[in-house]
Amino acid sequence: MFLTISTTGSAARPATDLSFLLHKHPDRAQVFSTSYGDAHVFYPEASVERTTAALLLEVDPPALVRRGRKKGRGGAPDAALAQYVNDRPYAASSLLAVALRTVFASALRGECKALPERAADPLPLRVELPVVPARGGPVLVARLFEPLGWQVAAEPIPLDPQFPQWGESRYVRLVLEGELRLSDALRHIYVLLPVLDDSKHYWVSPDEVDKLLRYGEGWLPGHPEQKLITSRYLARRWSLTREAAQRLELARLADADDIEVEAIDNAVAPEEPAEAEERPAPLAVQRREAVLAELRAAGAARVLDLGCGQGQLVAALLKEPAFTEIVGLDVSVRALDIAARRLRLDRMGERRSSRLTLLQGSLAYTDNRLKGYDAAVLSEVIEHLDLPRLPALEYAVFGSARPRTVIVTTPNVEYNVRWESLPAGHARHADHRFEWNRAQFAEWAEKVAARHGYQVRYLPVGPDDPEVGPPTQLAVFTLAGESQNENQNENQKKEETVA
Ligand code: SAH
Repeated sequence: MFLTISTTGSAARPATDLSFLLHKHPDRAQVFSTSYGDAHVFYPEASVERTTAALLLEVDPPALVRRGRKKGRGGAPDAALAQYVNDRPYAASSLLAVALRTVFASALRGECKALPERAADPLPLRVELPVVPARGGPVLVARLFEPLGWQVAAEPIPLDPQFPQWGESRYVRLVLEGELRLSDALRHIYVLLPVLDDSKHYWVSPDEVDKLLRYGEGWLPGHPEQKLITSRYLARRWSLTREAAQRLELARLADADDIEVEAIDNAVAPEEPAEAEERPAPLAVQRREAVLAELRAAGAARVLDLGCGQGQLVAALLKEPAFTEIVGLDVSVRALDIAARRLRLDRMGERRSSRLTLLQGSLAYTDNRLKGYDAAVLSEVIEHLDLPRLPALEYAVFGSARPRTVIVTTPNVEYNVRWESLPAGHARHADHRFEWNRAQFAEWAEKVAARHGYQVRYLPVGPDDPEVGPPTQLAVFTLAGESQNENQNENQKKEETVA
């Protein structure tokens, strides 16, 4: 199995820098023993204009591997070269991927103390693999590599050149060209060779999910063939594939820029009185006040703010001692970072900080950390999920976490015609996957309540327009059979016990 990586350069950016980036000296042929045989690294050419590094893996049958290990490293690669450069079409290419990781570990991580800026920069690269087992053929090869910025040439290799009528083998000669960072290029190859091969030579254990996410970072989330890559890389082990899909979804959402301030929400509703001093509070503030009032009325002490964003509601909850335990959860690490900073979490006194927990997690998955709370708030969150994922959120909140009270707010799309700054037919926020009218929201809420044993009532937030209703719709779900009074009594009882 054989792979070459070439780059071109000039006096200012010599191609020989490749040897620094790969951490392998251009004047020496080196041998590394891997579990599957010896991996040789050498440079067929090394000039300022053009440098090529070659990785050649000599796969030993198990007995040879053992013997080879006893012998240790060494050998005379030059003399033996001819015997390596033969056609081994049965060779599994996940072996080469493992060799790549073993031999070029630092380059894969993008580390290069000597030339850090070169490691961080794209360079013109040409990667050639003379024989790649490719299930799915040249078409799949292109679908895997092209979205990553490669120009792909995948030439099918005939089963036997002497008998063209036998057709093509499942092997291709692959040439990839592009301007990429070396570490990205190596990570693409490391992950995608076994995907093309589609049969791993070793048992795929759960830590392969970590590897996939580590080496897929920055390019696998959002790749159009993400599903196929994940499933094949994990040898179609369903439970692992599912785990990877969940973690990739988290990564994608954490990257997505869905936490920008909802500008239009912070604007003042247009139907305010004329006098400046009587301007109503921005809609976001009115919403927070409405949510707080409902939480107080429910007698909730332990509260979840699900999709807490930058923590405005969490801050308000902290100010009221009646809320003894506050959990803010969001899928976005960036939002949580901003929340922690705004709340001055690092300088918060122990008493206050002991009431607060910030968690990263996705509401699209059940989460045991969310069980046992009095109330949950989903303020302007549901519309950020793709509709097909909403049942998952429904189950996670109403089926699994199951707090006594759930408060949900979402825009009322009917009101959009009243926002002067909003072009007709536009959603209020770029990341809104849907916006419902009052009937649609009620239809969803009734079904959720019926399925999970809650009762539901609705409140307007903001000016309740006689035609189009309020800008924000709010629903309060209460676990059936647990009225407000009971909650309040319970709270009173708690207070009495404390006293
Ligand atoms: N509750 C805040 C923020 C609303 S913006 C408020 O009322 O102002 C929507 C928030 O939901 C964002 O912070 C976004 O990161 C978060 N979110 C979107 N999808 C999510 C998911 N699947 N799980 C958890 N949070 C999610």
